[in-house]
Amino acid sequence: MYWTDWDRISEDEARHRQGRVLHDFLKNQVLKYSPFYIELFKRAGLSADNIKSLDDLHKIPFTTKADIAPTAEDPAKPRKLVLQPDPDKYASTIGIGKKLGLMKNKLVQGRELRDQVLDEYLPIFFISTTGRTALPTPFMYTTRDLQLFNEAARRLLTIIGAKRDKDFIISIFPYAPHLAFWIVYQAGIMNGCQMFHTGGGRVLGTEKIMKMIESFKATIVVGIPGYVYHLLTLAAEQKLDYSHVRMIVLGAERVTPGYKKRIAELLESMGAKNPIILSTLGFTEARVAWTECPTENSIEQSTGYHLYPDLEIFEVIDPETGKPVGKGESGELAYTCLDWRGSVVLRYRTGDYIRGGITREPCPSCGRTCPRMSCDITRLCDKGELQLTKVKGTLVDFNEFFPIMSDQKEVREWQIEIGKRHGDEHGLDEITLNLSLKEGADGEAVVNQIDKVVKERMEVSIEKFNLLSPAEISSLLEIEVRPKELRIKDKRKEK
Ligand SMILES: [Zn+2]
Repeated sequence: MYWTDWDRISEDEARHRQGRVLHDFLKNQVLKYSPFYIELFKRAGLSADNIKSLDDLHKIPFTTKADIAPTAEDPAKPRKLVLQPDPDKYASTIGIGKKLGLMKNKLVQGRELRDQVLDEYLPIFFISTTGRTALPTPFMYTTRDLQLFNEAARRLLTIIGAKRDKDFIISIFPYAPHLAFWIVYQAGIMNGCQMFHTGGGRVLGTEKIMKMIESFKATIVVGIPGYVYHLLTLAAEQKLDYSHVRMIVLGAERVTPGYKKRIAELLESMGAKNPIILSTLGFTEARVAWTECPTENSIEQSTGYHLYPDLEIFEVIDPETGKPVGKGESGELAYTCLDWRGSVVLRYRTGDYIRGGITREPCPSCGRTCPRMSCDITRLCDKGELQLTKVKGTLVDFNEFFPIMSDQKEVREWQIEIGKRHGDEHGLDEITLNLSLKEGADGEAVVNQIDKVVKERMEVSIEKFNLLSPAEISSLLEIEVRPKELRIKDKRKEK
């Protein structure tokens, strides 16, 4: 079902196998049982025979968020992605259709036929997108899919080099039906590692988690960047002993080198020695996550995310033309699942822009030959969360604030607010920056510096700066109550 040599095979061999699996997958599964793709292929005048190798992949039309997200008119849209054989024809799905008359109620490989089919196709577990403004989109796993999920989860801790007998891992991902929480949970189970799931600040409270990391002598902490930073800042203020923390693994959000550096500095201020800071990538539609591997200097040198050629096909495409770009070139990420059941997507446009694309060179750190994807990722399009928005009629990429603010060493926390001047609905747009600074910082100098950099790099200006206390900014960011902090707040949309 998955390849035991996934991280050792050559590029040619991987491409060859991927093409073969893709063809069979389309022929025997997707174009038999996926209501969405049966229809899409029909409209495009395509059949499985048109897709014989990876070179034919580009013929398949893209799938976008709009194709799969539920709407008020069509709340059952995500269901159309799920492979769903006709119950009356179940038997033919495992290749013994003709014999069914004879085999009814008989055991096949020790299990009832019906159970085998249910294992393959019955969705028994799902995760969901966050869906702050859009309706959440669920993605389903069958029993068979969970074997792939388990394997992907296992690979995560193997790649980061977690040791069963030495490491104690604390997860501060919130308990939620999200990929991050569940894949981390399963990674611990699959690797037999000591791992404690706090459920995040909302469940245990930040204070308790901070103390727990100290008292359990945790060696690895995993969580969402914004919350990890918040927690480490508070822990550093209380001068807790985190000398045992050797690694932080960040997930579910983009991480810049500046951010990694600040996390490392906070840890070092609590006694940690050369902590390794890794980022991971995962998205609901892929049902798995990928990670960097450790290097001597994990802040400056990123190995990129180690991908799984047996579980998916990644393409990097030109976001304008949709054409695949050359090796190692930048572009938008498109994802195709390979031989999964449950919710199946082909050539799904993630809206993520990858600077540096995908490389097939062996990893300089671990030597694995799996494809590796650059970690320099930005969101291209607004997928329910505010990133790209018009201010005074000009399109502004608010993603840019993240690297800019990461570079500001004196800034403890920040939040952008977009509102209307004097609260007048028809008035001009106005950007406010709420800031909490480190003790002893020169407020005026910091404000001037940010003002200058933002004008230069983003061609917008910040109208108002508010200097706030740590408690005030935490409350504005809603760090303790939300799964992700409210970093950019568009008050114009609150009606
Ligand atoms: Zn590696």
